[in-house]
Amino acid sequence: MTIAISKIVQGLEPSATLAMSAKAKELKSHGKTVYDLSIGEPDFVTPQHICDAGTAAMKSGFTKYTLASGIPELKNAIVEKYKNDYTLEYKPSQVVVSNGAKHSLHNIFFTTLNPNDEVIIPAPYWVSYAELVKLSGAIPVILPTEESQNFKMTAKHFEQAITPKTKMLLLCNPSNPTGTVYNNKELIEIAEIVLKKNLFVIADEIYDKLVYGSNRFVSFPTVCSGLQERTIVVNGVSKTYAMTGWRVGWTLSPENIAKKMGELQSQETSNPGSISQYAALAALTGPQDCVAQMLDAFTQRRNYVAKRIAEIDGLTCSEMSGAFYVFFNIKKYLGKTLGGVRIDNSEQFCLELLTQKQVATVMGSAFGCEGYVRASFAAGLDILQEAFDRISEFVNSCH
Ligand code: PMP
Ligand code: GLU
Repeated sequence: MTIAISKIVQGLEPSATLAMSAKAKELKSHGKTVYDLSIGEPDFVTPQHICDAGTAAMKSGFTKYTLASGIPELKNAIVEKYKNDYTLEYKPSQVVVSNGAKHSLHNIFFTTLNPNDEVIIPAPYWVSYAELVKLSGAIPVILPTEESQNFKMTAKHFEQAITPKTKMLLLCNPSNPTGTVYNNKELIEIAEIVLKKNLFVIADEIYDKLVYGSNRFVSFPTVCSGLQERTIVVNGVSKTYAMTGWRVGWTLSPENIAKKMGELQSQETSNPGSISQYAALAALTGPQDCVAQMLDAFTQRRNYVAKRIAEIDGLTCSEMSGAFYVFFNIKKYLGKTLGGVRIDNSEQFCLELLTQKQVATVMGSAFGCEGYVRASFAAGLDILQEAFDRISEFVNSCH
């Protein structure tokens, strides 16, 4: 007799990004060389001055519990960032610092959703959104978008999906997994519906600093007045500062929600790591040239990957305007035999690509979009070159 798993966790899908990355790590542990484009994680080490701030925090004895919702210095730095970068005014009491932005999202859903509330999520969506919404008892309403429209949700489409049960929209901009970036006009059109229908928006802006070429990032609450009270912004240090392992993310929300999320956190996890919070403080307040340098490297890689996809017969992708992923169309190869194995869906494509060619990617189905594959280009050009040579060989083995 074993303890039964709760119904809600029984139905939980594990994170496909972490699962594919675990498969790649397992192969590596058996001595195989793997070209790992599965997980969305900068390959750079955390900049030295940020690591030094972590060490200094340890040496200075900042190794104790902090306020559950984060140290005041970091909350102030987050408030300053939004003032300087986006002319948004927040109070420190509107900030909750958590163990990564994934934890921030969990806090939001648990604090604001009731069973059967509906959350509109444009697809392709980041793997954890729908599962986290379901964990809170609410209902994810998936709104498909088209590659031909750069995977953007139109305002009209959004309005049609709204029902009396709709509570909020979850908008990831720049998008993981597609790299789409919404412009000011598109955001205003969405915002007008949000205001008209009295909805709320979770604006996941974790890739705000990773935008390419002439594309410009616009923070959602800036586009119309009255929106800041209706928006919860999610962000963190994982992507911008190559700090995935430090686990620091945050929310900016109306004060009553922030207070409750802080209380939830005080019962569930207490504060995020004290040392990590001091490192995140150094990231936000220290020199920013490391961000520009990493962006330059990502830009080169993005251009390289776009060229490679265009050269491979049958693969297509929309413009990668932001983040560090390519979401490419593999529909031409579904129902075909690759390396002697019939491929009927994106999961089979990714598993065979890993088995036959040792290239790790993530299936589009995990992002709510069959017929596509996501590859992260947060990897060195040498790795990308070998990985795309192998992807090319894989699809050229088609019969
Ligand atoms: N949102 C998006 C869109 C992401 O891609 C990620 C991936 N890390 C997160 C949130 C969570 O980031 P973290 O928990 O590392 O802060
Ligand atoms: N967000 C990254 C990804 O999409 C990291 C893994 C995760 O948290 O899911 O790959």
